[in-house]
Amino acid sequence: MQASLSLPTLSPTIPRSNYVVQSTLPLAPSKPINLRFCGLRREAFGFSSLGQSDSHRFRLAVASRSKKVSTALSDNGSPPKSFDYDLLIIGAGVGGHGAALHAVEKGLKTAIVEGDVVGGTCVNRGCVPSKALLAVSGRMRELQNEHHLKALGLQVSAAGYDRQGVADHANNLASKIRSSLTNSMKSLGVDILTGFGTILGPQKVKVGASDKVVTAKNIIIATGSVPFVPKGIEVDGKTVITSDHALKLESVPDWIAIVGSGYIGLEFSDVYTALGSEVTFIEALDQLMPGFDPEIGKLAQRVLINPRRIDYQTGVFASKITPAKDGKPVIIELIDAKTKEPRDTLEVDAALIATGRAPFTHGLGLENIDVATQRGFIPVDERMRVIDANGKLVPHLFCIGDANGKMMLAHAASAQGISVVEQVTGRDHVLNHLSIPAACFTHPEISMVGLTEPQAREMAEKEGFEVSVAKTSFKANTKALAENEGEGLAKLIYRPDNGEILGVHIFGLHAADLIHEASNAIALGTRIQDLKLAVHAHPTLSEVLDELFKSAKVKEHVSSPQAVAV
Ligand SMILES: Cc1cc2nc3c(=O)[nH]c(=O)nc-3n(C[C@H](O)[C@H](O)[C@H](O)COP(=O)(O)OP(=O)(O)OC[C@H]3O[C@@H](n4cnc5c(N)ncnc54)[C@H](O)[C@@H]3O)c2cc1C
Repeated sequence: MQASLSLPTLSPTIPRSNYVVQSTLPLAPSKPINLRFCGLRREAFGFSSLGQSDSHRFRLAVASRSKKVSTALSDNGSPPKSFDYDLLIIGAGVGGHGAALHAVEKGLKTAIVEGDVVGGTCVNRGCVPSKALLAVSGRMRELQNEHHLKALGLQVSAAGYDRQGVADHANNLASKIRSSLTNSMKSLGVDILTGFGTILGPQKVKVGASDKVVTAKNIIIATGSVPFVPKGIEVDGKTVITSDHALKLESVPDWIAIVGSGYIGLEFSDVYTALGSEVTFIEALDQLMPGFDPEIGKLAQRVLINPRRIDYQTGVFASKITPAKDGKPVIIELIDAKTKEPRDTLEVDAALIATGRAPFTHGLGLENIDVATQRGFIPVDERMRVIDANGKLVPHLFCIGDANGKMMLAHAASAQGISVVEQVTGRDHVLNHLSIPAACFTHPEISMVGLTEPQAREMAEKEGFEVSVAKTSFKANTKALAENEGEGLAKLIYRPDNGEILGVHIFGLHAADLIHEASNAIALGTRIQDLKLAVHAHPTLSEVLDELFKSAKVKEHVSSPQAVAV
């Protein structure tokens, strides 16, 4: 049986690549437990990850630093009496970087330990290179859209691209941002310690393979995450790949299956289809894009999936994926997600595994401080304080970013780091995660903050309040129409009794930039009745939100609270 096709112009009976879809064979259901630690390179476990000269400099720096650094390993159990640093951060991704910069601003003597390259997932294998690829895919899409160009009165001869040139753009951007992150920390006096960090006991961390120990009054774990690869899937890095490999753009397959339709899978579908691939989504849940507000998800499917060279199978698990070898294609065996019965076998050119991220907490020495992870994530309270196996807070130990699993986004990691620094410098601070926006950088973009409509309605029922919804279309926005980009919707979910914003969801041109008016309003506790009075420049896309807030029906008598802690 062939994969169901959502695209009417593609006949289900016509093979869509060099390879055909075949009926399936029975297979045992997989348990999604097998984690592969693709994020950290092999050198990450030693001392030499930044190249020889860097690692040499690092050794010298550590050796010449205070003698306290060479605390004996035998002294692990008891907390040290004096400290090398006020704050030590394990992991120099965006979370660690955000915390480090805020810490030095607050006057803390700060060090950051990195086992691989500075910048972590976001800079090297995530947000940054993926947005470089998406910048290319956006332009390619526009240049290939004859109808769109004609409406603007433009004529362009056939658009083309140089794969290596596109790959270089992504790689160069990552290098550039990595350098600026490193320089920003160095110039502000953050000590960058190269080596894998292992917690030996309270306030003590071993750095690298030697016996050297660094002590710190407070420690932040910011060790991030790596691609999660379910059991039964064999990644060869060439034909069966994760986002780590895909971002290098070593090939543009004719037909690629993307396993998982979350934001990472969706962004890659935008890139691959713009560059000429056909895509088949394999999604375990019954609908694509399960994380989005259902109404926005439906619209996104109508615009981002249906008219493109994308088909999909939902309610199925990829129970076994075998890389291409000896002229044979990649073979994907599918089982029904509920019954576990065999459903299909696909033969494709490549498969991208976008089934989520696994926390990277392996080898961190958590057993030395009696912390048990939950599916690999480090348990924390609302202040990012680490909770031990007995449910007690571990003094002076925090965990931020992907490693705690609260909200696996770059800016969330950084915000959590800043929040921790506020606390250790004497200001109590609880980050409101419902005010943190998220975005998917497809063309057009999707963004959101707060609750989806079903979540808001569930909460309203439990807590006994009313929920209202307002919507505006990009079709009524002058700037969007001038750009010939009227396809879009903004949706506001709110409390009509007091004007509180519960959630905002946007699908349309520059949605990722537009969401911040709503997220800042939630963070600052600004009510809709006050937002209605805000002035927006004309003609701008920001008027989409202006219209949205103005169309909300809030009871007049309710006044905005004066100040609400963020
Ligand atoms: C393809 C893709 C696209 C993405 N796009 C976006 C986006 O557009 N926007 C967004 O907000 N988020 C995006 N993300 C998610 C974002 O990259 C992560 O949420 C973010 O990087 C998490 O930051 P972090 O600091 O917690 O961890 P990481 O960035 O993973 O950094 C952790 C660092 O810790 C180091 N480390 C681990 N263990 C140790 C140890 N024991 N000792 C020393 N060092 C250690 C690692 O080498 C790594 O450098 C994307 C992710 C992917 C995969």
